[in-house]
Amino acid sequence: MNVKQITNVAEAREWCSSVRTSGVQLGFVPTMGSLHAGHLELVRQAAAENGAACVSIFVNPLQFNDPKDLERYPRDFAKDAELLDQAGCTMVFTGTLPEFFPIELDANGHLHSDYLRDPGLGAEGLEGETRPGHFAGVATIVDRLFDVVEPDRAYFGAKDFQQTLVVRDLARRRGGPRIIVHPTVREESGLAMSSRNSLLGPEGRAQGMFLSRALYAAKGAWNAGERRPRALSRLMAGVMMEGELQIEYSAVRDPEAWAPGDSEGALERGIALVAARVKGTTGTVRLLDNLLLS
Ligand code: AMP
Repeated sequence: MNVKQITNVAEAREWCSSVRTSGVQLGFVPTMGSLHAGHLELVRQAAAENGAACVSIFVNPLQFNDPKDLERYPRDFAKDAELLDQAGCTMVFTGTLPEFFPIELDANGHLHSDYLRDPGLGAEGLEGETRPGHFAGVATIVDRLFDVVEPDRAYFGAKDFQQTLVVRDLARRRGGPRIIVHPTVREESGLAMSSRNSLLGPEGRAQGMFLSRALYAAKGAWNAGERRPRALSRLMAGVMMEGELQIEYSAVRDPEAWAPGDSEGALERGIALVAARVKGTTGTVRLLDNLLLS
């Protein structure tokens, strides 16, 4: 195995610093592990566009608003390291919350809200509303990861659209790194790849396909001239109801303005976004997806 594995944040910081001082550009892919083909495409792109590609694997407690979701989030570091080796990753590192925040945690191991980063306007609505605190947790850990790695470029997936708004905003405020967004990688059925897909049984997988089906239905309607957010979101909700999903949201927004506009007004640009719960092998599994319409 060629990929260097580091299980400690201080050592990762040192390794990244020595790579940078030797004049090599560093591409960085932050992940929560349990890697799939979607993650690996980001890694391949990072390896192709930089002298070295670094990947972090950290299941960040700060971005989980549901403790059960955190507990059963899939983890398999040995397999991840093997996949990263094949994808051209140079170094993979893990870490713990106390390593990332050595002086900021209280006696119970919690991060005081004073230390949380402001996730900005991209966190408003949809994911931000259904998962309170999630994007502050994302912005806080990504900010700290950028401090550790100091990458030239950082790679994120379009599947988490609001996350791309949040990290772009963060990078603008910090003065870097350059944020590169990779298109969503899908299974043949249309289901967006996700670490959480491993928690689905056959029934949940069949239900999961209705998310992308709903998005492509909206794209069809957009191409046929429909531009009103409410009509498009109703159309998507109707498709998802056929699959008996528990819908969390079904929305169409301007991807640049982001703020919800007049739901009956015609959009010039549009992105369709959905989130729903489907049946998992134990309990329900929350899936999300989006598709650019314009
Ligand atoms: P996660 O491990 O879920 O935090 O994801 C790590 C990165 O991979 C994030 O930037 C995700 O947006 C991205 N990602 C996850 N799934 C996909 C996918 N199906 N296609 C493209 N990127 C993805």
